[in-house]
Amino acid sequence: MKNISIIGSTGSIGTQTLNIVRLNPDKLKVLAISGNSNIDLLEKQILEFNPKICAVMSSENAARLKARIPSSTRIISGMQGLLESVCLPEIDIVVTAISGMIGLQPTLEAIKHNKDIALANKETLVAGGRLVMDLAKKHGVSILPVDSEHSAIFQAMQGNLSSAVRKIILTASGGPFRGKKREDLLRVSLEDVLKHPNWSMGEKITVDSATLMNKGLEAIEAKWLFDVSMDQIEVVVHPQSIIHSAVEFVDHSVIAQMGYPDMTLPIQYALFYPERISNHNPSLDLSAIGNLTFEKPDLNTFPCLGFAFEAMSIGKSMPIVLNKANEIAVELYLKNRIGFIEIPELIGNVMSRHTPIDVGSLEDILAVSEWTANNIRSN
Ligand code: NDP
Ligand code: MG
Repeated sequence: MKNISIIGSTGSIGTQTLNIVRLNPDKLKVLAISGNSNIDLLEKQILEFNPKICAVMSSENAARLKARIPSSTRIISGMQGLLESVCLPEIDIVVTAISGMIGLQPTLEAIKHNKDIALANKETLVAGGRLVMDLAKKHGVSILPVDSEHSAIFQAMQGNLSSAVRKIILTASGGPFRGKKREDLLRVSLEDVLKHPNWSMGEKITVDSATLMNKGLEAIEAKWLFDVSMDQIEVVVHPQSIIHSAVEFVDHSVIAQMGYPDMTLPIQYALFYPERISNHNPSLDLSAIGNLTFEKPDLNTFPCLGFAFEAMSIGKSMPIVLNKANEIAVELYLKNRIGFIEIPELIGNVMSRHTPIDVGSLEDILAVSEWTANNIRSN
């Protein structure tokens, strides 16, 4: 039996993780869950899974939830609550299904308490990749990728030495605006943006997929997870989302992982690694799919992907600025305060005004994040 904690249990990844628990009650037990605003769903999850603790961000929501549930689940609030929810002694693995770099602190806390991490929360690695990976090494914990591309790369690497990797081929669906030009993006609606062709996900990552920032964040995530340089990562647009990514080795053999776009597999692979367990997913029918196609990404129309590579080549604090600026820009966009094409404009603008500094600690990262929040709107 594996005991798990899920931060962000009410979201897309969180609820899909709970589906896997539902299908494997003899293998997985939920000890802690957490959410932000959706206390109705937290209530249902508590009644079904009876976790020891549930962390809710605001104290008002925590008090409202507490009044509705049995006393066998302790409700805790704030960042302190989130940190407590990952470090109960019996927890084996923490699923980081929260959205945004708010996930950094609980991830570090979980590692300090020797918990393995099933990592969905890519913003954490973009903002604090070195810190997280160094700490994981120090504590001997595994960072198991949940992101489908990184799960594919991880699966392709099994049985191979990391020194034998020549290149990572990171596939991208291209999002809802593949093939469009910059002028076309002036007129897109929020509804168009949120209509991803292949995946159903939370709002923030869906917007990131439309700007291609998601692929930029994933390239940085891959750099940290697999200890490669950014030069070794090639982004290829593959609209069918059947090849989830591939690895080219020094002998030019390319190993890819395939499947229908469905997060069940990457989530369960991370939870049960190194074991493979069966599920109810359909078999891949290649002759029904017919064609798998590939093309280069259009960096002129989608500058966010280029910004991510640029931020990493500048290094130091720049990836933190990239990530935070994107989080703020996406939030402003979702609140209808800026247009879709202003997302890259805001990010590029604040990056050009940032003087990179060394970052060595969580406090440094939070300070750069705050600098970004204070500087993003003053164009
Ligand atoms: P969702 O928006 O669906 O869910 C986000 C979760 O985080 C919710 O439980 C939400 O709580 C919680 N949350 C958000 N903000 C806060 C906050 N300030 N404090 C505490 N909790 C908070 O996101 P996804 O599940 O789509 O994505 C989660 C992460 O996984 C992201 O980093 C994303 O990039 C990554 N990912 C997602 C994939 C997907 O298919 N969805 C695929 C690969 C990676 P509440 O709902 O209660 O407000
Ligand atoms: Mg992905």
